[in-house]
Formats: sequence, C-alpha cells, structure tokens
Amino acid sequence: MSRTRPLRVCVIGAGPRGTGVLDRLCALASGPVEVHVVDPYPAGPGRIWRRAQPNLLWMNSRAAGVTPFSGADNDVPSLWDWARAAGGHALARGELAEEVGRTTPRWFASRPLASAYFSWVFQRAADRLGQVRVHRDQAVDLRESAEGQQVVLASGVVLTVDAVVLAQGHLDARPTPAELAAREFADRHGLGYLPRGQADADALAAVPAGEPVLLRGLGLTFVDTMVLLTEGRGGKFRRTLDGELAYEPSGLEPVLYAGSRTGVPYHAKPESSLLAGSPELPRYFRHDTVPPGPLRFREQLWPLVCKDVAYGHYHELFLGHPDRVRLSWAEFLAGLDGYDWASPELVELIEAAVPDPTDRVDPDSWTDPLAGRWFPDAAEFQDWVRDYVRTDLHRRGDPRWSAEIGGLAGVNMAVLTVLELAGAGRLTAESMVREVERGFLPLMSFLTSGPPGRRLAELLALAQAGVLRFLGPESRVRADEASGLFVGSSPRVPGETPARFLIESRLAEPDLAGTADPLLRKLFDRGECAEEELSDETGDYRTGRLAVRPADHRLLAADGGAHPARFAVGPGVGVVHTPGVTPEIEPFGQNDRVARAVLSLGS
Ligand SMILES: Cc1cc2nc3c(=O)[nH]c(=O)nc-3n(C[C@H](O)[C@H](O)[C@H](O)COP(=O)(O)OP(=O)(O)OC[C@H]3O[C@@H](n4cnc5c(N)ncnc54)[C@H](O)[C@@H]3O)c2cc1C
Repeated sequence: MSRTRPLRVCVIGAGPRGTGVLDRLCALASGPVEVHVVDPYPAGPGRIWRRAQPNLLWMNSRAAGVTPFSGADNDVPSLWDWARAAGGHALARGELAEEVGRTTPRWFASRPLASAYFSWVFQRAADRLGQVRVHRDQAVDLRESAEGQQVVLASGVVLTVDAVVLAQGHLDARPTPAELAAREFADRHGLGYLPRGQADADALAAVPAGEPVLLRGLGLTFVDTMVLLTEGRGGKFRRTLDGELAYEPSGLEPVLYAGSRTGVPYHAKPESSLLAGSPELPRYFRHDTVPPGPLRFREQLWPLVCKDVAYGHYHELFLGHPDRVRLSWAEFLAGLDGYDWASPELVELIEAAVPDPTDRVDPDSWTDPLAGRWFPDAAEFQDWVRDYVRTDLHRRGDPRWSAEIGGLAGVNMAVLTVLELAGAGRLTAESMVREVERGFLPLMSFLTSGPPGRRLAELLALAQAGVLRFLGPESRVRADEASGLFVGSSPRVPGETPARFLIESRLAEPDLAGTADPLLRKLFDRGECAEEELSDETGDYRTGRLAVRPADHRLLAADGGAHPARFAVGPGVGVVHTPGVTPEIEPFGQNDRVARAVLSLGS
C-alpha cells in the first residue's frame, strides 16, 4: 500500500539519542517523513546537556571523543571537529567564544559548550529532513487509535503518528521506601534532604554554609555537586609554587562529608599516552577462547579479562620502559601465554621479571581499594585518601606510569567483549545481573569513566582546605531520632558525623517499575511495556530496563508481544540478552536499526 501522506513519526526525548534517531531517519528516508520531537528541554542537548547550567560543570569525555552516536559509520563531526569549524564560527562573538577558541582534541568541554554542539547536531539533522516539528512539552501518555498512535502531551495537545520512538534517557525514579523515610525524617526535624538525580544548582542552594553536609556517592554526580557547592559558591583555586592546587574558601561553602561503598572517588581520566604503541587486544579474552555453554563471568571470564589487562600493562612496561624489567618481552610473553591467571607459575614469573611491585598490575585488588584496612582515627583516614588520590593523579598523568594506560586498554576491550557475549545470550541470567551489571560494569566505570584529572586535583585541594572530608568505606547514614540529625559513619573508620543535610549524590539505577515518568508509568501499569527479565535455572532476574526486541528495538509488552509501531533506545533500554540475535552495542547501529524499522512502516 503506498501512502498519500508523509510517514508521521514522534520521537519522545530530544537528548543525544533522540537526535541520533532523527539523524538516521533523515539519512535513510527515501520518501516524505514528518517528525514530531517532544521534550520539555531544548532539542539536541535535552535535559543533561541543556545550556542553562553553570559552565563550571564539564563533560567527562574529551572533545575529540564526543559525538552523539558512536559507531563506525557515523559521519557527524565530533565536538572537536565542530569547534574548529562550524562551531568556532557560530560562537565567535558570543559568551562561549573564549572556550571554543581554547578547545583542543583533549579538552573537556563545559556543559554550555556541549549544549551548543548538541543543538547544532540536532539542527543539522532537522534541516536535512525538512519536516521536523519540536514540541517543548512532556509526553504523558501514548494511546492506540484507528488513525495511529496518539501521543498525549502535558499541555493537552495530542499528536497522531504512525510510529513512536521513546528516547527518554536517564529517568527520574520515584523515591524508594528508604528515601521516603529519609524525607519524612528530614521534614519532621527541619532537616534538608536531596534525593538521587543529576546535581541541580537550584536545589543545592538550600544547603547551608559553614556546617557539615553528608553525601552518599563519590562518582560523577558527586563531582558535580562538589563543584557547585564550592567553586560555585565563590571559592577559588590557585596554583601554589610547588605546582599543586590550593583552595581559597569563600566562606559560603558547607563542609562536605562524602562516602560510598569503596570510600574513594573514581579514578582520574588518564592524561598520558602509550610509549610502545597500542597493544594488540584482545589476546586471551575472545569469543573463540571462552568455554562452550552458559558462562559465569566471575569464575570463567574474569581470569581471561585479567590476562588481557596484564597483557596491555606489561606490553607497555616491557617495550616502553625496558630498564625496569629483567626479561625480554618475548620470554615474558611466552610465560603469560602459557600460564593461567593467578597460577603460582605466573606469579613467580612476574615477580622475577618485574622487580618493583609498583610496576605490577593486580586487577583482583581493584574492587576494594581499602581491602583489609582499618583506621585508628578519622584523621589518619583523611591522610590515606589524600595520598591515594595524589598517587592516582600521578600515575594517570605521568608517562613513567604509562603501563597503567596499557592495562586500561585491556579493560576497555574486555567491556566490549562482555557486552557482545551478553548480547549473544551467552551469560547465565544470574551472572549477567549479579556479576556483570552490578559488579563488572560499575567497576569499569570506576576505573575508566572517572572525572578529568583537574577535578581530582580540585578534590585534593578541597580536602587539604578542610572543606571536604571522607567518611570511609561501606559508609552509612542513619536517622538518629535522639538528636534529630542524620549521622554518617563507616565501620572501618572510628567516629560519627552528625549533619542537618543529606544529599544522595548519585543517579538512580534503571528501575522501570519505580519510574517517575508519567508516560512510562501508564504504559507499565497497563502492561504495554515491561521490564527486561532474565531467567535461568537459578531464578528470574530484573534489570530494571525497558524490554525491547533486540533485532529492531520494538517495545515488548508484558505478554511478550512486540508492538509494531513503538520503539525505544537509550540507557534505560535493555537489549543485550537474546540468544541467536547478533547484538548491536554501538548507539549508532542501534539508532540505525530503529530508523530502518520505522521507515519500513511507510513502504
Ligand atoms: C550528569 C551526567 C553527565 C554525563 N556526562 C557524560 C559525559 O561526559 N560523556 C558521555 O559520554 N556521557 C555522559 N553521560 C551519559 C549520558 O547518558 C549521555 O551523554 C547522553 O546524554 C544520553 O543521551 P540520551 O538522549 O539517551 O539521554 P538524555 O540525555 O537523558 O536525554 C533524554 C531526554 O528525554 C527527555 N524525556 C524523558 N522523558 C520524557 C517525556 N516523558 N516526554 C518528553 N521528553 C522526555 C528528557 O527531558 C531528556 O532531554 C552523562 C550522564 C549524566 C546523567
């Protein structure tokens, strides 16, 4: 049946993923297509990258690596390419002129500059397609009708279309019972409480100056929060004569007491590069080296991951720093090839070949940097964390420690291989959810997706100035009825910290059943969408993500049926667990699949 009118598509969510789908729609469309884009935030940057944010907040990716849709066939210029061409011209006289002029491939762009870039990418795609209409509104429902899919907006407008793509990104979650209890406790005692979510300058204005505030989470949301509560309140960083950063308080900042499971911040982004060139990875952890049958990550794959990490690390050490080893690379490699990870033979080989223990790599120690450590008092723990951060900055920035970068190459490769195996349905459900989703992937973020080194230098300066303190590993916060205060502590560091304000400085985990989004809530309650659930003989495991059909990202209903006209992409969508389907883990490829499936509705 040929159409007499354009194919009508509605993309809900206009962040980088919605923009990516739009880009593929315009690249692949052979007939007329009319696209409605719905988002209360500006189209392109969306909520996370909206321009109305302080330029004190940065991206955590370097300009040369920022593109809305990573993937081999992506033809959209990176932020760096844009900044030195179209972006540079467009922003030459505005408030971002200075920053765009200073941008290099290794630059960490401010959120406002990233916003300008994502806006440009969106406009580029919209101009190519022609018929794109932006609705600065929230989608609150999606209904079937004889005319097509009806997208209901908060304003009451109803859009009738042939296909709907959900690209809603990181969703706010409804408060958990523990958060409700914390909120209720705070209200009853006149305390302050901020739930999980992106750091928000307006909400943080309520944090009082000069008194302790507790923070749960030491990842990227913590870094944003830290910046807004210190430099954002007028404090200044300056370089001392010995080259370190020092912090001059404005007097308006609170005293931050931060804790998490590990007790330490994420590792800094590496600054140095490899002297010996890229190691050829993967070497040990490949599709053809894993055992047959359902796989358990920790037991069967982790030892192979460790060997690839060791390969990347020692390749760089032996070839980039040969004065620090006692064997030739060929001799060492023969042993690494032949021995199992953690076998006595391999341990002996490493000890003999690499005399300085600080030149060795031990991935098994990464999950718990404070393993087995107990501190006699809080002051000693503060010293320990400052040393730890200083060492991390040094090792991530000084070419002397470039072997560490080689090890990270092994880590990054392992993530891809794990996701591919997961996508091919090779891991057991239990291992996928418990060991990969909750263990390996967060560990990888901790190691490789941390903040720019400058942020850790600032963190160190704040800690030196007494504006930031660390609670300790396995930190907890309890609501103390006797004092009417929140109290932070760690089982491994003596002492307690009472405070009148508690900030959950981390994002909500994907949790479709607990989402605060009105559209998904309605679809979920009516059984028109479902949570991804993995099963094996040990039980059923929820990932909290939206279930879609991996082949084309069609939305799956609670009864398992794929909707012909509804699709979903993005971080809240689970697509990686179906045996027999070639997994697509790059956003570009996923957007491409969705765009092709959407356009096929018009043919
Ligand atoms: C604070 C933060 C910092 C980050 N920093 C980096 C970084 O430096 N580098 C990096 O590579 N990644 C970073 N990320 C990861 C981030 O996931 C991606 O950069 C990217 O933003 C994801 O794009 P998205 O479009 O899927 O989601 P989002 O960017 O979250 O966009 C989704 C959009 O959907 C809209 N939406 C949701 N529900 C509705 C609805 N019902 N109706 C209408 N619109 C709706 C939202 O308003 C939002 O604009 C960061 C994430 C966060 C939270």
